[in-house]
Amino acid sequence: MKAIMKVNRSKGVVLKDIDVPKIKPDEMLVKVKSAAICGTDIHLYHWNEWCENVGAKNPMVIGHEYCGEVVEVGNLVKNFKVGDLVCAETHIPCGICFQCRTGNQHVCNNMKIIGVHTDGAFAEYTVLPEACAWKLDESTDPSIGAIYEPFGIAVHALQAEQVAGVPVVVLGCGPIGCFATEVAKAFGASQVFAVDRNEPRLRMARQMGADYTINTNTDNLEEIVLSKTNGLGAGAIIELTGSEAALNSGLKALRKGGWVSLIGLHSKKTSLDLVNDVIYKEARIYGITGRHMYKSWYAADEIIRSGMVTPEKVITHHFKLEKVEEAIQLAQSGDAGKIIIDVD
Ligand SMILES: [Zn+2]
Ligand SMILES: [Zn+2]
Repeated sequence: MKAIMKVNRSKGVVLKDIDVPKIKPDEMLVKVKSAAICGTDIHLYHWNEWCENVGAKNPMVIGHEYCGEVVEVGNLVKNFKVGDLVCAETHIPCGICFQCRTGNQHVCNNMKIIGVHTDGAFAEYTVLPEACAWKLDESTDPSIGAIYEPFGIAVHALQAEQVAGVPVVVLGCGPIGCFATEVAKAFGASQVFAVDRNEPRLRMARQMGADYTINTNTDNLEEIVLSKTNGLGAGAIIELTGSEAALNSGLKALRKGGWVSLIGLHSKKTSLDLVNDVIYKEARIYGITGRHMYKSWYAADEIIRSGMVTPEKVITHHFKLEKVEEAIQLAQSGDAGKIIIDVD
């Protein structure tokens, strides 16, 4: 089969012809229909420090956001059958550690990640453990199936606390920020302020239902949020930029008793005014990684199938499997929303 592989630590990926993988008894073989490019794939492409830190494997097939059809099931698989349309939770839990046994398998102590530690999905076939499989309605567009996983991160961030009737600030309007904008509205946020410095991204956030877009090159975030919230500030901040300056200005716009979900990864230590912006405000800060398994998935599936959200609006490009390298370069340029790889 054709597969996009990372073969060593140098920059780049290569298209290889390799054997279709074999499955274990608790796994399924999936024929990939659509996949999507994620920031992780850009890290792997360059093989930067992040790859060394997380112990990424090579040689390895990359890609983890995908949708496909089950073509073979192992004899211990109970809830899936050949022909099912599936997508994947990319965090592979061990099932037996403290975290797994206390309802937090998404932060398993022995966690492996598809397309980082095990062969991924930029290939004609991929292996999916039943523990990580999500069954999609058979009518689901595979491009949408391929973005359930990043969409679920936005859902997880907004499940940290109640958002009904709450004004929400979304810092960073890449694909997950745009998803967070829609999810906040679907969960009943009173108004969403989408913040970025890139106009095309802000336009996309408006299409996803943002009530106000704030370009911090020219606009004052704190002033605008206070003016639209009777001087109180936002009740929740969803932070996707990984920028110290953005987080600090977001915290200034947070009302007392508000909360923050942090998703964006900071490349260095971050300095905050904890006394004024967190302690005196009695603010709560949540670290968000991946999706809750499977509370985030059930909610994501409900709001996507019901038509309350339209995550497909974030898709701006489609590429063939052979062109993954070009797709990664476009993703890196910042001039694209979500990029889909049409495998089948
Ligand atoms: Zn991803
Ligand atoms: Zn575990």
